[in-house]
Amino acid sequence: MSSVTVSTLGTPRIGPRRELKTALEGFWSGKIDEAALRETAMGLRAANWARQSGLGITAIPSNDFSLYDQVLDTSAMLGAVPPAFGWTGGPVPLATYFAMARGAQAGAGEAACAHGHHHHGGQGVPALEMTKWFDTNYHYMVPEFRRGQDFALASTKAVDEYREAKALGYATRPVLIGPVTYLLLGKAKDEGFDPLSLLPGLLPVYTDVLRRLAANGAEWVQLDEPCLALDLPDAALQALRDAYGAFARALPDLKLMLTSYFGGLGDNFATALSLPVAGLHVDLVRAPEQLKQVASAAPHGLVLSLGVIDGRNVWRADLPAILERIEPVAAKRGTDHVQIAPSCSLLHVPYDVALETRLDPELTGWLAFATQKMEELSILGQALSHGRDAVRDELAAAASAVAARRTSNRVNDAAVQARGKATTAAMANRKGAFAARRDAQRRRFGLPAFPTTTIGSFPQTAEVRQARSAHAKGGMSDADYEGFLREATAQTIRWQEEIGLDVLVHGEFERNDMVQYFGEQLSGFAFTQHGWVQSYGSRCVRPPVIFGDVSRPKPMTVAWWRYAQSLTDRPMKGMLTGPVTILNWSFVRDDLPRATVCRQIALAIRDEVTDLEQAGARMIQIDEAALREGLPLRRADWQVYLDWAVECFRVAASGVADETQIHTHMCYSEFNDIIAAIGAMDADVISIETSRSKMELLDAFTTYRYPNEIGPGVYDIHSPRVPDVAEMTDLLERARGKLAADQIWVNPDCGLKTRGWAEVRPALVNMVAAAHQARAAL
Ligand code: GLN
Ligand code: ZN
Repeated sequence: MSSVTVSTLGTPRIGPRRELKTALEGFWSGKIDEAALRETAMGLRAANWARQSGLGITAIPSNDFSLYDQVLDTSAMLGAVPPAFGWTGGPVPLATYFAMARGAQAGAGEAACAHGHHHHGGQGVPALEMTKWFDTNYHYMVPEFRRGQDFALASTKAVDEYREAKALGYATRPVLIGPVTYLLLGKAKDEGFDPLSLLPGLLPVYTDVLRRLAANGAEWVQLDEPCLALDLPDAALQALRDAYGAFARALPDLKLMLTSYFGGLGDNFATALSLPVAGLHVDLVRAPEQLKQVASAAPHGLVLSLGVIDGRNVWRADLPAILERIEPVAAKRGTDHVQIAPSCSLLHVPYDVALETRLDPELTGWLAFATQKMEELSILGQALSHGRDAVRDELAAAASAVAARRTSNRVNDAAVQARGKATTAAMANRKGAFAARRDAQRRRFGLPAFPTTTIGSFPQTAEVRQARSAHAKGGMSDADYEGFLREATAQTIRWQEEIGLDVLVHGEFERNDMVQYFGEQLSGFAFTQHGWVQSYGSRCVRPPVIFGDVSRPKPMTVAWWRYAQSLTDRPMKGMLTGPVTILNWSFVRDDLPRATVCRQIALAIRDEVTDLEQAGARMIQIDEAALREGLPLRRADWQVYLDWAVECFRVAASGVADETQIHTHMCYSEFNDIIAAIGAMDADVISIETSRSKMELLDAFTTYRYPNEIGPGVYDIHSPRVPDVAEMTDLLERARGKLAADQIWVNPDCGLKTRGWAEVRPALVNMVAAAHQARAAL
């Protein structure tokens, strides 16, 4: 019996200590040169290969590494460089690669465009757009496509890294993003043209790369087509048939592992199984039900890669339970026709639980990061190859860790569970309908037309960050830190009064992050020291881990709010992060439905909302910045998600009297799809991001006849540019064309924490002036 192949599909690449981040930022700031950057990168790749090999991974990937992003790497491979970057052929230089990722300053050498394309007032070339990779928190650089665009091999990275691994003694399985997914992820820059029409031009480059890989000794190549988990138009299915048909004809001896992930194949099932490839990877964590289906429908010779270890979460797996499901498939197909894999690349989990020295050991024993997942994969492979007895102790340990977690009273809180069950429909409803609430609130606040406010945070200056880090390291006493924060808050409130803002905020200086700040005060949350995952480029996030039933032991924001309100007579908004956003930006326990976990968080936030009201807060903002990004990949699953997400928001918001005004805030760019859900949230006031779209995003609200109040952002806080009064007056004019005047609030697009005071001061002064002009014109 041959040994079962075990793969990872891809690994984290930022480095266990974020070495790549340090090197990239050092390179960008001129502290290290390209050779030093490349040396760090090579060291990380070598360590990754060694780690996998040492842990028993047998299909070790190469080209899963990237200096910035694997989609950008693919654009470089294909020579898909927008004209503005001034590239004229040949290998894409590193400077051009980073210019696409980060934008180029005017005059910054060869990366800057010399011909004036796409220049914004001499400010250089803006970076490619960035957007979320499927439903992960990883962001990729969006390829740009133009009609009649040519492709040519412009980066041999895939081949180079294959050879690099080979020289170190690893026969790897190189990874490429498949051509159809690549085209679907891009954006057409010309009207009325479908990027899929570019496929014929792409295929020769892909074939060339595959041929070079084969010539260098690659037996298998992994082609990632996560688009298989999406609703696909027929043209995309045809493109898959065309592409893989072409590869099979050109390279009949090269084995392709076609990988789907982030969900089931669904109605793409028949197409996926009909493609002329040697192997097919399926995600059996998100879509366990497809195991049966695939096992019975797969052609005899097809190698099935079984994605059974969760590549999107951090929990140890129940290995015996997994074996129970897959042993019959292995027995039927033969051990040479099944492979063991994570559901998707391990890119989306942190490196190694062993780095966590401050977590509770009980919790540590329940966790599996990339390194532990490699061990799990290898144990499963051995069990299939040599029988369970070969790994008896390992299997027993896995089972007992899962059992311990299930029954631990650190996880289970009877009071929380009982309260969850007792949640009634009435708790998700405000007492009065919006019209009645609005009247009560208008009487209470007597605000002018076009009331002005901000979204919550004010600049997190170097001074603020230094104080926080000094306090965290013990160099600043609690009392000094508290005093510092109070002073920063007081100054900010005084300044808001001076410039005439109507509704004030305290500035959020005491908060490190809008989710972490709350997670640290809630039961059921844990925070790692090194649990970083790549968000984009050199940027990493460290999501909280929700391991147990969630509750709020004591008020989280009331003291700060009370202090802030004591400094002014104007309404001071209480400022909270909403349950859906907290959920979507965390690693969530996998032993409860997400909806159930979210409802627990909603009840905890509800407690905070009612405590704020009791303390005297008249307005409370509950931010749901991440509600939209939790949307499932398939349309058919949207409604179920939106229903519970909206209900959770409403549970959090509805414990208050009618005259208490609930605000929410969302910084999205797409409302059309979810406008009914936004309406159903029934916040008294919603602030949204609209300045860049010139208020076009408001059309969704107009068409829907959204009745509640709205603050469409008039100040683009993503740019250091200070908008002038006329510009914001113009935006308000446009908003007036789309909404009733008495619905409109005036505010920036989002919080101001990433900006400097030098920009924020004049911008908000101008914003208040624009509101005054709009009032005068009424
Ligand atoms: N209240 C938060 C802030 O102002 C909202 C941030 C966000 O929406 N991302 O920073
Ligand atoms: Zn925002």
